[in-house]
Amino acid sequence: MVLFVREKSVNSMEFSDFFNIICSYMANPEDKKSNKQGRSEFLISLIDLMIRTPQTEVEDQMAADGELNPLSDKESDTISKYCSGSRKIPKAVAKEILKRISSGKSFIEKIDFAAPGAKESIRDEIRKQGFDVTSDSLGKICFDLMKAFLKKFTEGKSSVTASDMVDNQNDVTQYRLAEDVGWKCPLCGQELSRDGINKAVAGYDIVHIFPDNLKLKDKSKFSTIKKAPEKSDVLDNRIPLCLSCANFYLENPTLENYQSLVNVKKSISNQRYLAKGLNQLTLEKDLIKVIKGLKVIKPDINDMFISYDAHKVEDKISSDYTLQGTVKYYVMGYYNKIRDEFSNMAGNSFYFDDLAATMKLAYIKLKREKLSQGEIFNQLANWILNKENLENEYLEAARIIVAFFVQNCEVFEVENAK
Ligand SMILES: [Zn+2]
Repeated sequence: MVLFVREKSVNSMEFSDFFNIICSYMANPEDKKSNKQGRSEFLISLIDLMIRTPQTEVEDQMAADGELNPLSDKESDTISKYCSGSRKIPKAVAKEILKRISSGKSFIEKIDFAAPGAKESIRDEIRKQGFDVTSDSLGKICFDLMKAFLKKFTEGKSSVTASDMVDNQNDVTQYRLAEDVGWKCPLCGQELSRDGINKAVAGYDIVHIFPDNLKLKDKSKFSTIKKAPEKSDVLDNRIPLCLSCANFYLENPTLENYQSLVNVKKSISNQRYLAKGLNQLTLEKDLIKVIKGLKVIKPDINDMFISYDAHKVEDKISSDYTLQGTVKYYVMGYYNKIRDEFSNMAGNSFYFDDLAATMKLAYIKLKREKLSQGEIFNQLANWILNKENLENEYLEAARIIVAFFVQNCEVFEVENAK
């Protein structure tokens, strides 16, 4: 005997399941599950939200006659069957709707501006079905799902799979946003996991930084920190949070958290701006040899008499004592050795003066951004690592190189110099 097991395929959803989710959390209480007519009317209202405003005289007339929405002249009993899945929306009806589909603004706003608890529930239910959706993309994904269902109906089908919804651009954006925060939740520091409920769904959520559902008086308070963007889904207004922080922020956005998220975003964009400025500079490619070589050089910690004639480190770093101590140690241990190394390399396509000028320019660019000395020092070391494509294990060596240029007067100036 052969047993046929009908398995519900993973990452696919029936229209009736999707409709149930939206209806359960969005319809007025009297329109909910038990009430067939209420559910039918809710479906009609969803389709209304998806149809664009009339654009031709014919459409004008149709709108006046209440015929623009092809569901409006159907029996409530029939529509209720579409809702429950016992009947599919007919191909011709689905085609009619798709023909008049709008950009989705009204539909998307209806979802995005729903009560936070409702949004959270809809998001979770859709994720449970294996679809990757984040709080900030909820309205858009629901609209895209509705369109995908209508398209399936035109083919005589009624379910949509996650792969129907693949949006590479969206994936890339999500990845980039997570990269920006270093795959750590900006509010609690927890690692953002790449895998969530299943492989298709991320274990984090992307939220709108300026909350969607604020009351008017809260809106003005939040605006004093930073105004709401004109379009809520601009990249600058989106940030990934761990699921629990995302839920919390969605339900209870505090000014304090808003301020932190604004700060994080600001520092990310500063970083990017700085990186752009520094990327234009090129480093001498032979520098990499010196950096790698530093790993095997033993520092001269006893060489107190450094054979150079220049200002002391203390003259250039006078208030940040930890940085001063670090740089002094590096200079003491390595300055002479690095200088010898550079002079040995001179002539063979290595130009020390070019390297020194580039370091100076990089320093000037960072200084212009009003970073602290410690920040400038770290930025320069990281920049060298990135430029030379080196692993993090060379970070210390890169810092030693920066210290060399502090001593050599390209990085930092003598304070109170006359
Ligand atoms: Zn968190």
